[in-house]
Amino acid sequence: MIHAHARAVFGPEGPFQLTTIERRELKPHDVLIEIKYAGICHSDIHTARGEWGPVQYPLVPGHEIAGIVAQVGSDVAKHAVGDRVGVGCMVDSCGDCASCRKGEEQYCLQGNTGTYASTDRYGHYTQGGYSTHIVVTEDFVVRIPDAIELSAAAPLLCAGITTYSPLRHWGAAPGRKIAVVGLGGLGHMAVKLAHAMGAEVTVLSQTLNKREDGLKLGADHYYATNDPKTFADLAGTFDLIVNTVSAKIDMSAYLSLLAVDGTLVNVGAPPEALPVQVFSLIPYRRSFAGSSIGGIRETQEMLDFCAEHGIAPEIELIAASGIDEAWARVLASDVRYRFVIDIGTMGKE
Ligand code: NAP
Ligand code: ZN
Repeated sequence: MIHAHARAVFGPEGPFQLTTIERRELKPHDVLIEIKYAGICHSDIHTARGEWGPVQYPLVPGHEIAGIVAQVGSDVAKHAVGDRVGVGCMVDSCGDCASCRKGEEQYCLQGNTGTYASTDRYGHYTQGGYSTHIVVTEDFVVRIPDAIELSAAAPLLCAGITTYSPLRHWGAAPGRKIAVVGLGGLGHMAVKLAHAMGAEVTVLSQTLNKREDGLKLGADHYYATNDPKTFADLAGTFDLIVNTVSAKIDMSAYLSLLAVDGTLVNVGAPPEALPVQVFSLIPYRRSFAGSSIGGIRETQEMLDFCAEHGIAPEIELIAASGIDEAWARVLASDVRYRFVIDIGTMGKE
């Protein structure tokens, strides 16, 4: 077994404590990664608090992982020691079902193996990236282009791909009007990516507090959703709305902002149901959809797209001892726009 330092929660309320976890010895296709940076996703919080269902403790979250290959198994062909690599929300899938064969491992019909809080094919409970090392099968490790700083690459592995995938699937392009609801980790990446794809981008945030930032990130328009006038002014406007909000909001009100044949795709994943008035869908043949992260091939495509277009998340780098405070700020919508843990500080506080 390989030992790694990690920060874990020992119950739904936290706080984080330093601990040691074990990683499996390398199988022929495994890669050992020395983790340099790990992003903090709101999903880490939902999961660790048991909001999406029961989990086992201690739990080490973290599925936005950027690091350097430290060792490779005997049959590894895709990665070499010293490579800059990333791992996102999945570390394995069946490899054999219709989804996996299409390269959409996130929709594996057997269920993909999550980077943490999941049981892998060896029967181990997976532990995530708030740790110094991880062992992952080579097919679930992606290459980080040299043009992207390692610290900024981390959030692309979840926030980046989770917004890139629906923007591609539902078509962000010149002439298309796209709204992004919630300007947090996912939202700010959605704005940058949709802008780079040539779409006309509108931010729908709770207030106008982050308006200047939103416009700098690439938004063409910015509205506050605490102002009822916003919903009247923008009724029937958008071809696509990407909802990144982590809490329950009034979906019918947002659906009314879609144009004819428009789609509202929910990537935000609050634990509560989101009831919908069918009369917000029927009159304009609107769709209400969901989307989960993205496949490995598409994740690599997204990283290369970001490198080519000079896109990187806005990050606030923190020490491993600062995770509890960062989580509190995420919960208070006080994130600008992704916290990234400097794993080099792990165990040194
Ligand atoms: P985040 O950084 O906390 O951003 C969420 C944003 O939503 C906040 O910054 C805030 O933006 C807005 N918001 C929060 N509470 C709100 C409320 N009560 N009413 C209205 N707006 C509110 O979170 P994130 O890391 O981007 O994740 C967002 C959601 O996506 C989470 O639920 C997460 O679990 C989910 N997620 C899903 C996938 C997937 O594959 N589908 C992948 C990753 C994450 P403003 O201040 O601008 O209003
Ligand atoms: Zn995530």
